[in-house]
Amino acid sequence: MSVESPSSSPLYSTYARAPLEFERGSGVWLETREGSRYLDLAGGVAVNSLGHAHPHLVAALKEQAEKLWHTSNLYEIPGQTRLAERLAAVTFADRAFFTNSGAEAIECAVKTARRYHYVNGQPERFRILTFEGAFHGRTLATIAAGGQAKYLEGFGPKVEGFDQVPFGDHAALKAAVTEATAAILVEPIQGEGGIRSVPPQCLRGLRELCDETGILLIYDEVQTGVGRSGHLFAHEASGAAPDIMAIAKGIGGGFPMGACLATEEAAKGMTPGTHGSTFGGNPLAMAVGNAVLDVILEENFLQHVRDASLHFKQGLASIVDRYPDVVTDVRGEGLLLGMKAKVANTALIAEIREHGVLTVPAGDNVVRLLPPLIISIDEVREAVARIEAAVASLSLASVKKSA
Ligand SMILES: *Cc1c(COP(=O)(O)O)cnc(C)c1O
Repeated sequence: MSVESPSSSPLYSTYARAPLEFERGSGVWLETREGSRYLDLAGGVAVNSLGHAHPHLVAALKEQAEKLWHTSNLYEIPGQTRLAERLAAVTFADRAFFTNSGAEAIECAVKTARRYHYVNGQPERFRILTFEGAFHGRTLATIAAGGQAKYLEGFGPKVEGFDQVPFGDHAALKAAVTEATAAILVEPIQGEGGIRSVPPQCLRGLRELCDETGILLIYDEVQTGVGRSGHLFAHEASGAAPDIMAIAKGIGGGFPMGACLATEEAAKGMTPGTHGSTFGGNPLAMAVGNAVLDVILEENFLQHVRDASLHFKQGLASIVDRYPDVVTDVRGEGLLLGMKAKVANTALIAEIREHGVLTVPAGDNVVRLLPPLIISIDEVREAVARIEAAVASLSLASVKKSA
């Protein structure tokens, strides 16, 4: 364990890291060099969809590593075609562009939407509507899309062309649509924003609004996608398909990759030379992405996610019942879960960590739980018991204080 002060570290001091370092992982468990084991409900922030060192992913990466790492997109990459075909077969999409991250997938989505209107002869139609509390990444355009002051501050003029409306305010949304609106960009469940779900009828409402006005609907499923919600993609429950969708996190299972998916029509402006990436879709990433999909698409895999979710939610709900002075509600879908804290979420996260469980903060004072989707029901029970112990110790502490 090394606890370096920011001043002595050669790294940018951008991250508030926990004083922990891990040497290895297996399934839902992470282990430090000293042998302390932690139940990983952080899941690399929704990335480790199949846990750590999943044998199928390790084998796929090793096999590819011995053949070919990188050629660039100057040449055909069969793994890309295969992964694109497989994603197209199970989604609304016809086309895919592979990236290295979620923010790049969003950038590609925004570019795709703007080019669509441009080739339709409406270049003035470039504005993107987004929602308060959204998170779309940390590049200059994606912080403009997310619209959060804390991420924009000090980085010069906000990238032009993003308009934001309050979450859940239908009148404000209708009023914000103009002749210049190119697309609506929305997370079906806000992740960083505090695990806030967009109700299915609202996604259908967005779809209708887009159909009436010729606006493109873009989903950001970077966090919610690839089985996380208990569906392959979170929007599926609503029946409202997008025109464009960004994915990342879970599709690589820990290998950095993302994709922008689109219908043939929405992608029609993305002609040769309009976009590119040196690393995007390289053979290593594609080998792992295809391997992740092998497992997620197995029969009953998503059913397992829903079962584990139910157990988790029941366990957490009973904690909320018993310790309303510490936690006040349970939210989320599948294995994208949140507990709203009454104490500071960071204090609760630290206490849960003391009990050997890793979780992630989210907006709205929420503690986020993003376990690997392969978590067993026994491991869910273990996690709930440890979280309960942590919550109980904070509850006792608050009783003592007020006594
Ligand atoms: C994490 C995340 C992103 C950004 O992904 P990066 O890989 O960090 O660039 C974008 N949108 C959502 C919803 C995310 O959760």
